Amino acid sequence: MEKHCKACTSAFTVTMEDLAFQKKLSPVVGGKEMTIPEPTLCPDCRQQRRMSFRNDHHYYKNTCVFCKKNVISIYSPDKGLPILCHECFWSDQWSGLTYGQEWDASRTLKDQFAALKKTVPRLCIFNTQSENSDYTVHSSRNKNCYMCSSIIGNENIYFSDFIFDSSDSIDCFSCENMELCSGCIYSEDCYNGDWLNLCFNLTDAMFCIDCKGGNRLLGCVGKRNASDQILNESVTPEEFDSTRNRLLTDSSFRQEFKKKVDALRLTVPVPHIWQIGSENCRGNYLFHCKNVQHGFNAKYFEDCRYVYEGHKDTDCCDIMRCGSCEMLYDCTNGIDLKLSAFCNLAYQCDNMLYCDNCHSSSSCFGCFGLKKAKYCILNKQYTKEEYERIVPTIIEQMRTTGEYGEFFPTSISSFGYNESKAMEWYPLSKEEVLARGWQWSDYEQTLPQDIKGIDAKRLPENIADVPDDILTYVITPENGGKPFRLIPQELALYRKKGLPVPRLHPHDRLLALTNQQNPRALYARTCDKCQKTIETTYSLERPEKVYCEHCYLETVY
Ligand SMILES: [Zn+2]
Ligand SMILES: [Zn+2]
Ligand SMILES: [Zn+2]
Repeated sequence: MEKHCKACTSAFTVTMEDLAFQKKLSPVVGGKEMTIPEPTLCPDCRQQRRMSFRNDHHYYKNTCVFCKKNVISIYSPDKGLPILCHECFWSDQWSGLTYGQEWDASRTLKDQFAALKKTVPRLCIFNTQSENSDYTVHSSRNKNCYMCSSIIGNENIYFSDFIFDSSDSIDCFSCENMELCSGCIYSEDCYNGDWLNLCFNLTDAMFCIDCKGGNRLLGCVGKRNASDQILNESVTPEEFDSTRNRLLTDSSFRQEFKKKVDALRLTVPVPHIWQIGSENCRGNYLFHCKNVQHGFNAKYFEDCRYVYEGHKDTDCCDIMRCGSCEMLYDCTNGIDLKLSAFCNLAYQCDNMLYCDNCHSSSSCFGCFGLKKAKYCILNKQYTKEEYERIVPTIIEQMRTTGEYGEFFPTSISSFGYNESKAMEWYPLSKEEVLARGWQWSDYEQTLPQDIKGIDAKRLPENIADVPDDILTYVITPENGGKPFRLIPQELALYRKKGLPVPRLHPHDRLLALTNQQNPRALYARTCDKCQKTIETTYSLERPEKVYCEHCYLETVY
């Protein structure tokens, strides 16, 4: 059925399958099904709303309100939120239940929840079971990692996003099992790879796109099990080594080479959709997925709809950045979260509704900052019987006001819109944000004034010529980009790999990398070879040769 989005007015479709799935995921409280109503926002506006609750890249110095220790936090100090260090947060010296409020039937959940979440202490930054990885967020089981988001099971990873089981790598996005890599996107199982896009099982490769299996490749596109090749042509080992060396030490040669790779890219067909090891899916950048509809950048998903950037999720609808989750509806930032709806940041929880910042809890409604809690409403403890009686009456009330079935509104996010992930995908001006009743952050950290500066263009081309004291300088990019400093472990990695020192701020490097992604839209067009109708993220205006799966496989194998 055709609907119009309440926020952006664009048309969107809710299918019978969507509705059946929604019914399956509708919460059950005390044996009663709390049927979720049809969505009122289009998939993009739903995604934008979830994204406004996530800050991936802005870290601040803040203070634990209990022990007064300095901490790294994703919340800026000007917000005045009660922040706790890890030790205080996990200690038994406090409980979120002491902040409990009585449900007030004359007010909306939004107003009551917004008031509650301002008072309850919260963890400064979400990372668990990690060592020397203070500057990692939404992350777990990492060692010696720095400035990363959504990374699990890694060691020595810097300035990267959405990385699993990798080591000694920098500036990567959506990669798994990588070692000694830099600037890679949508790649897996690579060793010593730099600037790889959709590459798998490569060793000693640079500037490659869509290559599988192989080693010693420079600027190759669409190759399978090849070795010693440059721009898809075989070369001698000596030619390979000298070209590789020039790529590492001569920036103008590197720029020219990149242009040649871009030209080659247009001669090699692309598949209409990037689905790797996946079956019966609709969406793009799907890895090892089964029965996923409208999915983008998902790994190991099964039976899901409207899903974005997640890892190992099953039976979920409308989720973003969730990991190891099951049976979720409209949730974000969940890990090991099950049978829940309309939640943000819940780890190891189940049967949660409208909860945020909760851990190891179950059967809670409208709660914030709880640990090991059960049968709570607005952080107030109830018996099982009371909980099962009251929650359905609250939901019925929320139905009449149109609150039930909607995720938390952006207006009550803990972040300025410009700090949130929504800004990356749905950029808005400060005026547009404020006009919507959302927040904007003007907070700026003061940088130390006595640090020496150096123009990026004055940096040596060859890493061998970069002195140790580069670490004491602030580097100013040529294009007026954000100034930045190198960290010692980063410099050591560049030296180990022979890589040139970067000329851009890490955040701008990551942004340049993620900008290589295709848009999250599916266009109808025909295969450039057999004219079969295909669905693709390559719009008609794109210059690539876009093939159906059959024609593509015929070409590359
Ligand atoms: Zn919309
Ligand atoms: Zn503390
Ligand atoms: Zn075809």
